[in-house]
Amino acid sequence: MSGPTDSLPGPPFAATRLADGIYAVMGDTGRGSEGRPNAGFIVTRDGVVVIDALASPREGEALLRTIRGVTRQPVRWLVLTHHHPDHTFGAIAFRRAGARIIAHPDTRTLASEGGQDALIADWVRVMGLDAMRGFEFAEVPDRPVTGTDTLQLGGRTIIITHPGAAHTAGDLMVWLPRERVLFAGDLLIEDGVTMVVDGSARALERALDGIDSLAPRIAVPGHGAIPRQPAQLVASTRAYITGLASDMRAAVEKGVPMRRAMATLPPADSARPVSLDSRRRRNAARVYVEEEHAYLGLGEDSLP
Ligand SMILES: [Zn+2]
Repeated sequence: MSGPTDSLPGPPFAATRLADGIYAVMGDTGRGSEGRPNAGFIVTRDGVVVIDALASPREGEALLRTIRGVTRQPVRWLVLTHHHPDHTFGAIAFRRAGARIIAHPDTRTLASEGGQDALIADWVRVMGLDAMRGFEFAEVPDRPVTGTDTLQLGGRTIIITHPGAAHTAGDLMVWLPRERVLFAGDLLIEDGVTMVVDGSARALERALDGIDSLAPRIAVPGHGAIPRQPAQLVASTRAYITGLASDMRAAVEKGVPMRRAMATLPPADSARPVSLDSRRRRNAARVYVEEEHAYLGLGEDSLP
């Protein structure tokens, strides 16, 4: 550990038991994509699998202590649901504790466009210097997943799957088929407004179909409360994204410029890039471009 351990304070979080040995560590609720994301962990006879690392080394450490409060089993694997900093910047805490990383190898996101130094500087402004003490990137996978990978560990079956580039190019979901528990990452957000700025509406629609076909009993969204009925959150997310896509498609077909197509949406919040209004507006711009590409007959792969 670089720096004194008392620079990494903060009590552990609460662990919510979802099923035997399966826990969610709930972040902030009622704030959509803002605030601390959800994480989770699965206890097996042969070690622990953690889902997402939270936003800083300090939060990663607090999550690790949360797990220590439940089991003394070593943390074997950390699965990253995607490469946004709020889900990955605590990863170094798990790597230092001996975990290996399971992630999609495509780490590109808008957040990283300005390069790693800019990303760290931006994130220090969000989290504060103390929380970021000891930071190192630790998201390059030891076990890359680009399709479906079944992890058999200590009597449990854990399926890790890439649902397509829906929220980001590096999306993964974690599915426990026996217990029917899904960790959806940011494919699901409590308010149904999933960001597709780093992904695409079409890929999200397909991913939502994939979630429906699993028929999860419990679906943990990337941010916010666990829905009573997973299918309802999937349905409201689908209604939002298909509605937006058809509005933008209609605008493109009529030759309406993007600015005018978005005129009915409230302005984005300048200091809150992932507030509800900001997400709606940024998504609209992204989906307009996506529909324009489709209209021109360009493939999804041509999206910037
Ligand atoms: Zn995200």
